[in-house]
Amino acid sequence: MKYSKLLIPTVKEVPAEAEITSHRLMIRAGFIRKVASGTYTYLPLGLRCLQKIMSIVREEMNAADAQEIDMPFVQPMELWEKTGRREAYGETLGWFTDRHGRENALSPTAEEIVTSLVAAEVSSYKQLPLNLYQIKMKYRDEFRPRFGVLRSREFIMKDSYSFSATLENLDEIYQSMRDAYCKMFKRCGLKFVVVQAQSGEIGGSGSEEFMVPCAAGEDIIVHTEDGSYAANIEKAQIDAPAKAEANSDAPAPEQINTPNATTIDEVCQLLGTTPQEMIKTLVYQIGEKVVVAMVRGDHDVNEDKLRAAAGGGTVELAEEAIVQEVSGAAVGFAGPVGLTVKVDQIVIDPWVAAMESGVAGANKTDYHVRNIVPGRDFALDGEKASVVDIRNAIEGDTNNGKPLQFSRGIEVGHIFKLGTKYSEKLGATFLDENGETKPCIMGCYGIGINRILASAIEASYDDNGCILPVSIAPFEVEIIPLNNDKEEVSGLADTIYTKLQESGVDVLMDDRDGRPGVKFKDADLLGIPLRVVIGERGLKEGNVEVKRRTDDKPTNIPVDDAVSTVLEWLGELKQNLQ
Ligand code: ATP
Ligand code: MG
Repeated sequence: MKYSKLLIPTVKEVPAEAEITSHRLMIRAGFIRKVASGTYTYLPLGLRCLQKIMSIVREEMNAADAQEIDMPFVQPMELWEKTGRREAYGETLGWFTDRHGRENALSPTAEEIVTSLVAAEVSSYKQLPLNLYQIKMKYRDEFRPRFGVLRSREFIMKDSYSFSATLENLDEIYQSMRDAYCKMFKRCGLKFVVVQAQSGEIGGSGSEEFMVPCAAGEDIIVHTEDGSYAANIEKAQIDAPAKAEANSDAPAPEQINTPNATTIDEVCQLLGTTPQEMIKTLVYQIGEKVVVAMVRGDHDVNEDKLRAAAGGGTVELAEEAIVQEVSGAAVGFAGPVGLTVKVDQIVIDPWVAAMESGVAGANKTDYHVRNIVPGRDFALDGEKASVVDIRNAIEGDTNNGKPLQFSRGIEVGHIFKLGTKYSEKLGATFLDENGETKPCIMGCYGIGINRILASAIEASYDDNGCILPVSIAPFEVEIIPLNNDKEEVSGLADTIYTKLQESGVDVLMDDRDGRPGVKFKDADLLGIPLRVVIGERGLKEGNVEVKRRTDDKPTNIPVDDAVSTVLEWLGELKQNLQ
């Protein structure tokens, strides 16, 4: 294609509103323009990148025996109510009422629709397994859209859903999707790690995320040095501490006046204790339940783990009135001893359970209690209480004895074993070999197409612009004739352009009249992996210049070898992504 005919509005200035490199470069290279918070128009080059990513994803999905379908973006709200996800998604779910008064959800994923489809079309084990996918726009009313297209409100997701008759078959499809994802990300030129993950609002059992390690990532990856364990911090398992020896002579609990000391720091200062000796007691509202969570004073509650421990639902700190009802005291003085019956569940972190004794709120305004012995002064198990890991991993924690390290990453894909949650609610059942009715066992597998592009840029750029992998760059080769007005230059540029196109290469020709400096700057910004520069001076020696985006200097190549050299170098670049 010819540069002069394309809308490529490159920008010299660094856009002030962009917080991270990929966002800045996508604007500067003329790939995207912002429309409103979290919504973007993709210009021709940006769209070309997305289309290339979608082709790779489609090829690998088809190769893994998944079938492409297309489901509506506007979905009946009744279905979202049937599965309880209207509430689970909460304000993130976009919706509207149509002219007939019907409520419709704007698809953030499509479990409801695809499961209803299978409920209607599948009746026998002979029709299974099925793995159905679509590549389609999604909408999420994100609380804080940011980082350009990394967290936007509208985005393109490849979402697929598998239906199996047996658990073994679910495992097989899950593994085939895991393998397909690894191939796709490799082909897109991304370095990635696979980490264990929480299953989030979608709900289910096993789940893994594909993360691109990078400083701008919003997720925290927790891993051992050898990589044998890697998990999202939402999920990362921490070794439990050894239980303190039960001390039968431990002094009895003692109430102490702590006026206005409602934070861990204030109490520590007043009593001369350390956060490690405190039992932080927090009251949560999780779905319909009132849940009390206890962690050591120097630890933080991990709301994803807590949600899982409570069996799902939106996690919120309880309102003041509930805290008062539960503890009989002002906020800041709740503790494990003497909670009211209003509490539905008590979740105690293993690090609290292992304390020899601790200090906590007295469930009485302006009082704390010291010498509280877990297991003696409050129950660690029973009808309501249980000991479950509900805190964030921190420096110094171990997994299987190995120290945990922390790094940042961007979640580009997520695969889940869903089980029968949706098939049961929406009646996706089949008759098995013995004529018994069973619910389909489901898996679901998502990929963020736009995030792949942003993370590829985030992972590879320099001061001059993007350095895009050949598989997803808007063009594979850019030809820059320096003196367009000279017949020999423009003639040769045309010949090379045509020959490359005939060889199936995706070529951009910068046919603009203009200063070489401008053309070079734009070429660097766009990040096209190979560049051929044709200039009067080089031609006098019979040469053109060929340069990889990553090379410091161009290489002089005899005119007659230009096309073959480009093809060879291109082949090498592609080979690296196999
Ligand atoms: P996150 O934790 O980042 O909000 P999620 O876990 O809610 O994402 P999934 O439901 O797993 O997202 O969606 C599948 C994929 O869709 C994600 O792995 C991600 O690549 C992409 N994705 C999700 N939300 C967004 C968004 N707001 N903008 C761009 N891509 C997104
Ligand atoms: Mg996810």
